[in-house]
Amino acid sequence: MNAFFKIFMSFGLVLLISCGETKKEEKKDGFQYDQAAEKTDTSEEKSQNEVLITGDDMMKYSTREIRVKAGEPVTLTLKHIGKLDIKVMGHNWVLLKQGTDLVGFASKASAAADNNYIPAETEDVIAHTKMLGGGESDTITFDAPAPGTYQFLCSFPGHFAQMQGTFIVE
Ligand code: ZN
Repeated sequence: MNAFFKIFMSFGLVLLISCGETKKEEKKDGFQYDQAAEKTDTSEEKSQNEVLITGDDMMKYSTREIRVKAGEPVTLTLKHIGKLDIKVMGHNWVLLKQGTDLVGFASKASAAADNNYIPAETEDVIAHTKMLGGGESDTITFDAPAPGTYQFLCSFPGHFAQMQGTFIVE
């Protein structure tokens, strides 16, 4: 009985020692982890999502297709390079959510003169610039939506037929 107790005790001691060793190793691991965390990469890729699009007095955009990278902000500038007044040849740039009926949206927008031709309570718009007259420009920044193909248009009455295009997020 006495011998058994001794063996039991020494076994317990071994357990205690091994526990202590395990604890030390954990601490060591934790320290190494902290060092790794300090080395976190902070290099930034320069955004390629800077877009310039122009509109003119001929009721045309400079491009019908815009491509951007997903997961990054988009900075888009619309420049009206014509001379006509905003009331005659106003241009904006409106990006629609996927599944939005472009013609239906344009119809609602044309009735929203008091809100710069953006329907007041619409949920169809991802982003839009101000309405511009000749010589003006506006820059907006927004997060690129999920990868896919979207439509953009000028929502000034009657302009969407010519002033529309695809916005592709890759
Ligand atoms: Zn327009």
